[in-house]
Amino acid sequence: MAEEKEKSEGMLLEEQLGFNFPHIGKKAPEQVEAAAAFCEGYKVFLNGGKTERECVNLAVEMLEKAGYRPLDLSLHYEPGDKVYLVNRGKSILATTFGQKPLDQGVRINGAHIDSPRLDLKPCPMYEKSEIAYFKTHYYGGIRKYQWGTVPLAIHGVVVKKNGETVNICVGEDPQDPVFCVTDLLPHLAAKQNERKLGEGLKGEELNIVIGSLPFADETVKEPVKLLALKLLHDRYGIREEDFFRAEIEMVPSQKAVDVGLDRSLIGAYGQDDRVCAYTALMAEIETKAPLYTTITVLTDKEEIGSEGNTGMNSAYLRHYIEDLAELAEVKPRQVLRNALCLSSDVNAAYDPTFSDVFEANNASYINKGCVLTKYTGARGKSGANDASAEIMAKVIHAMETFGVYWQAGELGAVDQGGGGTIAKYVAQLDVDVVDLGVPVLSMHAPFELVSKLDVYNTYKAFKAFLNFL
Ligand code: MN
Ligand code: MN
Repeated sequence: MAEEKEKSEGMLLEEQLGFNFPHIGKKAPEQVEAAAAFCEGYKVFLNGGKTERECVNLAVEMLEKAGYRPLDLSLHYEPGDKVYLVNRGKSILATTFGQKPLDQGVRINGAHIDSPRLDLKPCPMYEKSEIAYFKTHYYGGIRKYQWGTVPLAIHGVVVKKNGETVNICVGEDPQDPVFCVTDLLPHLAAKQNERKLGEGLKGEELNIVIGSLPFADETVKEPVKLLALKLLHDRYGIREEDFFRAEIEMVPSQKAVDVGLDRSLIGAYGQDDRVCAYTALMAEIETKAPLYTTITVLTDKEEIGSEGNTGMNSAYLRHYIEDLAELAEVKPRQVLRNALCLSSDVNAAYDPTFSDVFEANNASYINKGCVLTKYTGARGKSGANDASAEIMAKVIHAMETFGVYWQAGELGAVDQGGGGTIAKYVAQLDVDVVDLGVPVLSMHAPFELVSKLDVYNTYKAFKAFLNFL
């Protein structure tokens, strides 16, 4: 045993004035078990929700089970009542009515449920050299070279000519086949190796193999494509023209798994930002008697700039708040002005292998808890929301009161790149907002990593936000 040394004056002063965010595993090892238990539900959510629509369906199921009902504008709601509203099947809002009058503000927690992926083009099927393929158009910020030779599943919806909507899912059941983009063998890749990494695989090379056997009929021009079409028709009753009325996403078929001998991490597709969506949903469901009315938003289209009417740059959140204000007979403007919002999204965890793109003192680290991010953006904070000192103080106070492990972090070193979240779109509504979320390694890759302790503390931060702020 080391001898207990008496602390010098300097050491004591350093303790008093300095600050470091601790590794949770060192400071609170008792959380390891609780975090692992919490993350079992998270893994189920990841496996069941690989598209925004699937996440909405899962959320509805969880909310209904917890006593939430669709918002009904003909009803009167009391504190503790729980409602939800689905926006076009791709985003969802959930509310627990608070004890304070609505015009004193609401607590909004927003996360996104869309993730980078390969979407099918409107006319996706073709045959080349007796192989049948899907043509894709990537969605969101992917590093294209990462998507070759990764087993993929087909997820999506098709609206048939007769108006019937068919849900498509192939590649998730263990009995199902999977699909993939091919890549060159090293032996013949000399020229490809000369390409810049960003063009390792080009956009028009992200073609997905879907079949190689022909429909047995000599008179057919493209018999391999025809057999693939027939198999889709057998399973789903769809024809080639139905792809024009479809939204089909190719996503990794890999299930969420524990990573590391200590099982401290979770590896899975789409954790940006379903890790915040799941924790936000759990915190919302477990909030029974909040002071302020809650609005948990799981939104779509963040990965392409929050566009479209299911993204945060549309009026759907404002309209929802206007509806609640009308019910409560207060001015919507007052509700917005006094509102406080967490823009809950992931941040880049410090990766020691690529340390030069981070600034170590202002990066987030795995196992140090949720990251509070004052501003995102690029270059001179372009595109950032830049939360005020007052809002930072409020959120930090709530987390500290509730014993949440948290850390502060920027998205990488200055001028290394950057990114944005939904924060600036919420701020446009005259709402106070700050970014908070989980640090992620290999963000936007087909297989992203998060720490279970961080997931657990993000959930605790959301509970603190909804219940103690
Ligand atoms: Mn995100
Ligand atoms: Mn993202």
